[in-house]
Amino acid sequence: MDMGIHLVSNTGSHERFSTFNPATGEPLGHYPLFSSTRVSAAVASAREGQAWWSRLPQRRRSAVLRRVAQLLCNERDSLAQIITSESGKPLQEALLHDVLVSADAAVFCADNAAAVLRREKIPHKNPGLRFKRGELSWEPFGVIGIISPWNYPLSIPAADTFAALAVGNAVVLKPSELTPRPALELEHLIGAALEAEGLSALPSPFQVVTGLGPTGQSLVSSSIDKLIFTGSVATGRRVAVSAAAQLLPVILELGGKDAMVVLEDADLDVASSAAVWGSMMNTGQTCVSVERCYVHRSIYSRFVSRCLEKISKLKVGNGAVSTTDVGPLINLAQLQKVSRQVDEARALGAIVHAGGNPLPDLGPNFYAPTLITDVDHSMSLMSEETFGPVLPVMPFSDDDEAISLANDSDFGLAASVWGRPSHAKAVARRVAAGTVMVNDLISGFGISAAPHGGLKQSGIGRTHGILGMRELVRPCYLDVDFTSRVKKLWWYPYAENLASMSAFVEMIHSSGLRRVVAAFRSLPAFFHRRY
Ligand code: NDP
Repeated sequence: MDMGIHLVSNTGSHERFSTFNPATGEPLGHYPLFSSTRVSAAVASAREGQAWWSRLPQRRRSAVLRRVAQLLCNERDSLAQIITSESGKPLQEALLHDVLVSADAAVFCADNAAAVLRREKIPHKNPGLRFKRGELSWEPFGVIGIISPWNYPLSIPAADTFAALAVGNAVVLKPSELTPRPALELEHLIGAALEAEGLSALPSPFQVVTGLGPTGQSLVSSSIDKLIFTGSVATGRRVAVSAAAQLLPVILELGGKDAMVVLEDADLDVASSAAVWGSMMNTGQTCVSVERCYVHRSIYSRFVSRCLEKISKLKVGNGAVSTTDVGPLINLAQLQKVSRQVDEARALGAIVHAGGNPLPDLGPNFYAPTLITDVDHSMSLMSEETFGPVLPVMPFSDDDEAISLANDSDFGLAASVWGRPSHAKAVARRVAAGTVMVNDLISGFGISAAPHGGLKQSGIGRTHGILGMRELVRPCYLDVDFTSRVKKLWWYPYAENLASMSAFVEMIHSSGLRRVVAAFRSLPAFFHRRY
């Protein structure tokens, strides 16, 4: 069976596409292919929803989000099964990295929205404008478009959605064509939470538009007010070009080539377990994973042996089976990309210690967990995003070399440094990435308060945390003048006013006697007739 290839059929009024289980090839569902007209209609509905949603008191919006968190928790097992069936990841990963992360994000956004929206006084010392008071308020943008990938089909769109909704925006979400169902489940849960809060009769501020790439393109070209795009660099670049043409602000969360640096004072057992888990979890299809591993020469061969021992114990299979450690890749195209990079590295002299081949007996999308050494940065395996269950390991001699290897990349999403905490922290500060973890990896993504995002080709802007919420509000400076019956000195007419104004400027920027004299010279301006 041709798994992961989506059939598009015309079934009457609307075209539809299908999804398949990447482990078994079983067809899972059919979903509408939203045309640009339907996308525009969804944006219009979301805008209607935003009108009442943004006027709700903050505590009521937060109450809806807290209910969503509770519903996510109640539905955790069935949601994990849906996520596993569409994405292939083991159930435990679906439960923790999608469902739990989403519920945590809902609570975080509910707890922190009021602080993000809090108005701020803007004091000033300008003597000519002293009868004014300035205030900064933070307003929702309006409708936020979210385009999301398949690898975290619930937690990525959910965290972005909650942040946007919490501060009064509406959302139109386009999930990946490979994993649309979790987004529709989210729509259902948000609907249920609104109903429980007595808000169901109103148009929903959350809409989902399913479809393929062109549906995403239609969302970018629609009348949304800001876009959060998470996906590959290639698509992100196309989206950015299209957004630039209409001056649409965008946040781009793109690919990574995350480095793991293991210093000579690292705990070998812990670091090797971390390297194996960090490179293999979600079958290596995690943007903040371990894509390259650099190990100090003094512990390199022992580290490689430990990794080999641990990789050989991993159980590959259907993620729905509770004993499975590593599931299938999402589809054949992803498997071919991983195979090409490993085969090219092998042809250039790399040594494959484990794996290095597909596992067709398990199904067309399975690839063996792979440990590979004798790699260098001329290989695509060390420069391009792999997104597969592959751990490439390379030695280094000192901290400077490790840092220069880690930073020798077009990407800058995440990295980790392992060693004695003070030593590892000093090295971590010199690694160029949006998130650098010391003696841990990936779990930063699960901390709702931690901002997420990268440098270089890994993207622009931040999601998650207070910084992520701040990206979804626009500042508005409110200036109130209390001299409503007084015309300003600098208004028309200018005639015969210039000398007084010149003295006025001198008065502001001088001191002592000079200032007193300038103040007297500026007095005529106060008696000037204005119109
Ligand atoms: P893609 O770039 O292929 O797709 C991402 C989303 O964009 C999908 O919903 C896709 O729809 C949609 N899309 C496709 N074409 C267009 C278009 N022309 N205009 C607008 N939207 C479009 O990425 P993947 O889904 O394959 O996800 C994997 C990538 O995502 C990896 O590179 C990974 O590193 C990155 N990623 C980054 C993260 C981060 O936080 N930095 C987190 C997770 C993943 P469709 O699926 O229907 O084609």
